[in-house]
Amino acid sequence: MSIRRPLPPRNTRPGKPARPSQAIRAAYAKRLQSRLDEMRTSLLWWLGAEYKRQQAKIAAYDALPLWRKTLRMIARDASPANAMLAALRRRMRQWTRHFGDAAADDAKWFASRTLGQSSAGVAAGIKGVTGITVRFRATRAMQNAMASIVAENASLITSLPQRLGVDLEGLIMRSVRSGRDLGQLTDDIESRFDVARNRAAFIAEDQNNKATEALTRVRYQELGITRVEWVHVSRSIQARKTHEDMDGRPFLLSEGLYDPAVGRKIRPGELPRCRCQYAPLIPAFAQTQADLAKYEEAANA
Ligand SMILES: [Zn+2]
Repeated sequence: MSIRRPLPPRNTRPGKPARPSQAIRAAYAKRLQSRLDEMRTSLLWWLGAEYKRQQAKIAAYDALPLWRKTLRMIARDASPANAMLAALRRRMRQWTRHFGDAAADDAKWFASRTLGQSSAGVAAGIKGVTGITVRFRATRAMQNAMASIVAENASLITSLPQRLGVDLEGLIMRSVRSGRDLGQLTDDIESRFDVARNRAAFIAEDQNNKATEALTRVRYQELGITRVEWVHVSRSIQARKTHEDMDGRPFLLSEGLYDPAVGRKIRPGELPRCRCQYAPLIPAFAQTQADLAKYEEAANA
């Protein structure tokens, strides 16, 4: 019986880049948005009920002579606006707590899915160049990277209801003071939730790019791969001209590549909505002089 070494593939390109998974991005966005949807339904229901309870008071309050309104305002008694605000704050406290609990789970779920994606991407990249199947172990560097991704995402998720709370309090105050009806208030609240949903989608996209890059980088460093080349990934909207020019240029993974548009060295995926990636340069498996030259050049980028 003989052991056959796998043959290196014929292409002379460096390894394939590890791409962020669009399936993970979509699933993550959906997870956050469905929490917001649940919150919207619950809040609107409670506010609607409170509004109806306060309707008689709102009308009676409106009918009061000015001096009595003023007296009651000074006394800070149970005015309809205060009652509505109190109802909102009660609900918001519950939802912020709920988001806080769920944020830890969501962030861990996202980080572990992304780790799987990054590891598979790195393994495929290495196999593409060398024919070798790599196995990964849990390292201290990886645990640190995972912990920082979980913490950052948990705090971004918790910020969703916090930002909404401030906006919604303002809406309710204005609505009750100006005597607007519930329909208008509901529309205004819906539109604030639409903004929050867009923010959730942005968090999912941006964090998916960043976390995939961070975990991929640790995986490569664990394997002793320090030099890579930039792979530009175009996007019809917001394509960066400088990144187009950076395509194929070698650089040190620990340092990044100089981007004249921002005046500093950056890594692929670091800037908002950047989908660029990198591919490993492995000198032992370089098949052309050009590949070897690229490897040398990386240290001077
Ligand atoms: Zn880019």
